Amino acid sequence: MEKYWIDSHAHIAYGELFESWDEIVANARDLNVQLINIICGSLEEMKQALSKIEGNPQFHISLGVHPTELDNYKDVKTFESFLTHPQVVCVGEIGIDMYWDQTQLQKQIEILVAQINLANQYQLPIAVHVRNEKDGSTAIDTVIDVLKKHPVDNKGVIHCYSDTVENAKILLDMGYYLGFGGITTFKNGGNVRDVLDIIPLDRILTETDSPYLAPMPKRGKRNEPAYVSYTGEYIANHLNMSVEELQEQVMKNYKTMYKKI
Ligand SMILES: [Zn+2]
Repeated sequence: MEKYWIDSHAHIAYGELFESWDEIVANARDLNVQLINIICGSLEEMKQALSKIEGNPQFHISLGVHPTELDNYKDVKTFESFLTHPQVVCVGEIGIDMYWDQTQLQKQIEILVAQINLANQYQLPIAVHVRNEKDGSTAIDTVIDVLKKHPVDNKGVIHCYSDTVENAKILLDMGYYLGFGGITTFKNGGNVRDVLDIIPLDRILTETDSPYLAPMPKRGKRNEPAYVSYTGEYIANHLNMSVEELQEQVMKNYKTMYKKI
């Protein structure tokens, strides 16, 4: 079986990354990144993504209203009409973000729950965004509470997980996968590496969150899907696995979680 890296979370359907599409796709190919899950949070992104990837099995799409872009929820009916598209494999990213604006919590919860219901209706997993306050940690508590009260049939992934081991255990017990991104490789990413030390291998996903959070040795630069290979190599090394073993494991995990593929 051919082995390759998977970027399970990339925002490449807008802005600079979309404008340099051919280049970033070639770069990904050069570093053996052969499956990319594109996160779309607006109809424009969705249309732009489809214009490039329709029918190409190396790309999937996650579609959902991000908690910092709640205005896009006005298009939810159209979003819903895309959920049966064969390449749309996930509702996301959705979640709670208390970093920028703490006044929207109730509305964020409401829209998160509505999108969980959509995921269940279409039997899709979810990709969850969590960002705590600058000086606190209640967004993760809210997410855990909502996911407990509103169970998702096909579970999903907490993307770019960067919280505590304790909360990771709760989410793993609930059946969730955790996405590991660039922070895993940062000097100050010790808490994420602690999570790597306790996570069952069959719950690990790899991701970039491009264009944000580029891993070492590209930290500070614009991130792109090719760089998931650096994070992957770092994780394999940390877990004393070969690159091929980790690639195979993540491929298996990805296919198990995204049941539609
Ligand atoms: Zn994201």
